[in-house]
Amino acid sequence: MLKKKVRINDVGVRDGFQIEKNIIPTETKIALIDQLTATGLALVEATSFVHPKFVPNMADAEIVLREIQRRPGVTISAITPNIRGMERAIACHTSGGRIDEMNLFMSASETHNRANVKRSTDESLADFKIMVPMAESVGIRLNGCVSTSFGCPFEGAVDEGRVMAFAEKLLELGFDGLTFADTTGMANPAQVERMMTNARVRFPSADITLHFHNTRGMGLANVLAGIRAGIDSYDASLAGLGGCPFAPGATGNICTEDLVNMLEDMGIDTGVNLDLLLAAAVKIPGIVGHDVPGQVMKAGRTMHLHPVPEKLYEA
Ligand code: ZN
Repeated sequence: MLKKKVRINDVGVRDGFQIEKNIIPTETKIALIDQLTATGLALVEATSFVHPKFVPNMADAEIVLREIQRRPGVTISAITPNIRGMERAIACHTSGGRIDEMNLFMSASETHNRANVKRSTDESLADFKIMVPMAESVGIRLNGCVSTSFGCPFEGAVDEGRVMAFAEKLLELGFDGLTFADTTGMANPAQVERMMTNARVRFPSADITLHFHNTRGMGLANVLAGIRAGIDSYDASLAGLGGCPFAPGATGNICTEDLVNMLEDMGIDTGVNLDLLLAAAVKIPGIVGHDVPGQVMKAGRTMHLHPVPEKLYEA
């Protein structure tokens, strides 16, 4: 039986903006996050503590976190790949830029981990061992993300046992939540349902999120497969922002408003006000300076009806 309520997390300001070539003004990000947190989303991933040389669009992490409005019930999260980033995050958190949750990530595939964070998976786990108590000491919740859980753009299939072993290690290290990410859009619905059914059995009480990219058009189908397996938290990105640094031109994350439109049509409660979300989505092409993949923002929500053609019943 399908769940009747799911959590939607928007990661567009981070996963989407990080690959944009143009620098997005800080005030624009702040206004957009404030608009997103008013829609009923469960979580907004606001920024990333990475070296500005690698990701210039995230250089304003501290200002964004200090200036955004806070709303009860909405988690503000940030990501970081390393200890230096965690030090910055903690300094930010303890000086007026509160972070509710830090999302730390590693790849299940050795090659992708090296390409993405320039170290081995063992080195990533060793870093997490240092980073977890740092976050815990200042009361920041921790989510651990296993990237390339459903496939690696360099190695191809990733062994499920390996993915689940990393997930287990993250839980042992003290992470409060787990994300399985389809970083480059290689998952298919049969695989998602099978793997997540197994994950639910192996980690019965874990707080699990799925992160899909729509690289090959299977994103929303993968969400339904995840829901069928009992997973009730999903990352998505406003207007379908995002992409893949290893596949230039690839479609981005699954689109938040398309996801909400589908689930609400199916009678699954997301808690998100779709009209408010669409009002934010339509601003995105102007902000990034190019077309975006979102479909409902162009077609209108399902029950956006059109006038009946004139003279329809005349002979
Ligand atoms: Zn992603």
